[in-house]
Amino acid sequence: MTDSSLLPWQTDQWQSLQQRLLSQSLPHALLIHGPQGTGKLQFAQMFAHSVLCQQADTQHQACGQCPACQLLSAGNHPDLTLIEPEKEGGQIKIDQIRQMIEKISLSSQYHGYKIIILSPAEAMNISAANSLLKTLEEPPAQTLLILVSTQPSSLPATIRSRCQMLNFTLPEHDVAVSWLEDQLDDPTYTEPLLKAAHGAPLLALNFADSDMLEQQKTMLADFHALATGQRDPIKVAAEWLKQEHVLPIHWIHGWICEMIRLKQVTGYADGTTQQATLQSMAQDVDLTRLYNLLEQVTEAFQLIKQLNALSVVEKILIIWTNMPRKISR
Ligand SMILES: [Zn+2]
Repeated sequence: MTDSSLLPWQTDQWQSLQQRLLSQSLPHALLIHGPQGTGKLQFAQMFAHSVLCQQADTQHQACGQCPACQLLSAGNHPDLTLIEPEKEGGQIKIDQIRQMIEKISLSSQYHGYKIIILSPAEAMNISAANSLLKTLEEPPAQTLLILVSTQPSSLPATIRSRCQMLNFTLPEHDVAVSWLEDQLDDPTYTEPLLKAAHGAPLLALNFADSDMLEQQKTMLADFHALATGQRDPIKVAAEWLKQEHVLPIHWIHGWICEMIRLKQVTGYADGTTQQATLQSMAQDVDLTRLYNLLEQVTEAFQLIKQLNALSVVEKILIIWTNMPRKISR
């Protein structure tokens, strides 16, 4: 994994930020947003390193050698704070925000910027977000807050409006393929992995490192069995949630988007087994109902933070199971 190099689809965003840094017009708060698996956090960290490095090169990449860079690579730089949920899929809590606020109220150890990265920003619970808002309203000098988010719409509008947005989109297919091929031991799986990750290269690489591709196949088979009335949504939800909390919602979201595309775009199908399964399910249901389900799933991304994840996934699977279908069972 290339932790310290700029990803090929991030150069525009990089140059734009570096220009603002040079002209001393960096905002107090940035909101880096875009699909999961596009390297937003990696980018935020790289940018923070370049700001804190004491001798960044002409491309303004961190030198990796100076005392600041050595602290950064050891994860010990006092002016860089990364705030994440304590456990994966969990919340960012108010205590974490309060500690951060206390820290940035002190002056920088190196007479430069103090940088805070919050990832994923949508993991903040309501009290954490309210507490952050106060800092965004009156930010201390020489402070840069970088919020990283896959679901910026689930952040309070009052927070969004105080951040400058920096958007990451999925890279072009060719760009993603050539990058992923370089990372994989066996490039045979480049296309299916990228497909499973809905075009997000870093997510695809994650899948390659785990058994997620297999896991997703099993889950799609379950999803199909629900559509044909062969399985029970409550049992399926319980099985899925044994493995991981957030991922099932991402898979369902991807499948529904794909089914909508298959229904709307002629000649879109590419003949993979996964797509054939999705197509057979898509042709039995009404497009409007798929859009409604998509809305529910998008809402679920938000709800899953506040409610029991199991009940959220159960609800989605029950809607899917009971969706009226053309073919009788
Ligand atoms: Zn350096």
